[in-house]
Amino acid sequence: MTERPRVVIAGAGPAGLFAAGLLAEAGASVTVYDRMASPARKFLLAGRGGLNLTHSEPREAFLSRYPDLPRQVRAAIEAFPPSALRAFAASLGQPTFVGSSGRVFPEAFKASPMLRAWLARLGGFGVTLHSQHRFVGFAEKGRLRFEGPEGPVVAPHDVALLALGGASWPRMGSDGAWTSILASAGIPVRPLVASNTGVDMAWSAGFADRFAGTPLKAVTLAIGDKRVRGEAMVTATGLEGGAIYALSAALREAVANGMGSLTVDLKPDLAVADLASRLSRARAGDSLSNVLKKQGGLAPVAVGMLREGWGASLPREPEALAGAIKGLVLPVAGMRPLDRAISSAGGIDRAAVSEAFEIDGHPGLFAAGEMLDWDAPTGGYLLQATFATAAAAARGMAARLGLKLPAASAPAW
Ligand SMILES: Cc1cc2nc3c(=O)[nH]c(=O)nc-3n(C[C@H](O)[C@H](O)[C@H](O)COP(=O)(O)OP(=O)(O)OC[C@H]3O[C@@H](n4cnc5c(N)ncnc54)[C@H](O)[C@@H]3O)c2cc1C
Repeated sequence: MTERPRVVIAGAGPAGLFAAGLLAEAGASVTVYDRMASPARKFLLAGRGGLNLTHSEPREAFLSRYPDLPRQVRAAIEAFPPSALRAFAASLGQPTFVGSSGRVFPEAFKASPMLRAWLARLGGFGVTLHSQHRFVGFAEKGRLRFEGPEGPVVAPHDVALLALGGASWPRMGSDGAWTSILASAGIPVRPLVASNTGVDMAWSAGFADRFAGTPLKAVTLAIGDKRVRGEAMVTATGLEGGAIYALSAALREAVANGMGSLTVDLKPDLAVADLASRLSRARAGDSLSNVLKKQGGLAPVAVGMLREGWGASLPREPEALAGAIKGLVLPVAGMRPLDRAISSAGGIDRAAVSEAFEIDGHPGLFAAGEMLDWDAPTGGYLLQATFATAAAAARGMAARLGLKLPAASAPAW
């Protein structure tokens, strides 16, 4: 009997586990190592927010959400679109639904039942999972070296996959320590930086005390030429939430260049002239706060923020006041740190990997998931790219091993 080809995978997050299943089903002997005591901790954490697996919007809109999308990741998502991820979830007994925002969630609205079924399936395929094994470097012949509870382990492989994640929420396992290991092996890595994270603003103590935890609804936020419509949450130190996360890349760049300021349109559905005409209906003697609330229709948090930005120079004359409401400029003091970000950008340089994410100069060594250099906002785009890059890497690994992957059962996009 011929020996089954050996696949070693470092990292048991969604990228590592997904590739493991595809290759084991195709007939490989798959061993997965993870530094934590149990797999997929960050995936379970994502489940606390309902597990937004992917998004239902059409292909071009979907792909346009990824800033500076590497061509390999684009091709991977085109080959493994949202429908394929939804079909995978359904195959694990977790049918999905489209929420009102177009986001896709499992009906269970959490990750644990999906992960349980997934791990059971991997067990059925004979995948071996070693927890508490940290990837610490490379040994001879490019083998992966791990430190486990019983000492060092060198795992021989025919092909190997690195799926060690980014560097946000390091307590969940992915601490980005692999960056220096790869760099010393000559693999180009771009620094991991916070993405989908809050921003620090110079709030006055009074504003922070009164409004921390209050949502700022239906606004448009802009930085440079990037504009996003949505919602943000006021925090004690700044702002968080979907609209802020969607501006992550632009905010990061602006802050790094020392010119971060956010332009807020507090009334995006009204033109300046229409808003000015409403404001001019105020009665003489009305306080400015009352005018902003009654005629302007602004929530107290929006009024507070307007005063934070304009201070005593907030104009009273309707046309100028309407302009101030629609063009509030707030300086950004900085980005929240990486350890509390939802994801990280940066990672293995796109120029150093093939279409299948095989690393140049390291034949048989592949990478997938968040450790690759792509960025995405929240909305399901992170997990979609994670699974899609894992599928592409698994195809490349299978091709090297002469294995045939199970045919995708999903309809086209
Ligand atoms: C709070 C939160 C909520 C989120 N919600 C969503 C959401 O709703 N939708 C969405 O699309 N995305 C969401 N994400 C992002 C998503 O979870 C990640 O993008 C995804 O988990 C990345 O998968 P991965 O397999 O590449 O890496 P990870 O999930 O980070 O897995 C990497 C694995 O590698 C292991 N590892 C790391 N270093 C080593 C080492 N040296 N040796 C051995 N093992 C190691 C880790 O322990 C971990 O198990 C959320 C993230 C957070 C933090």
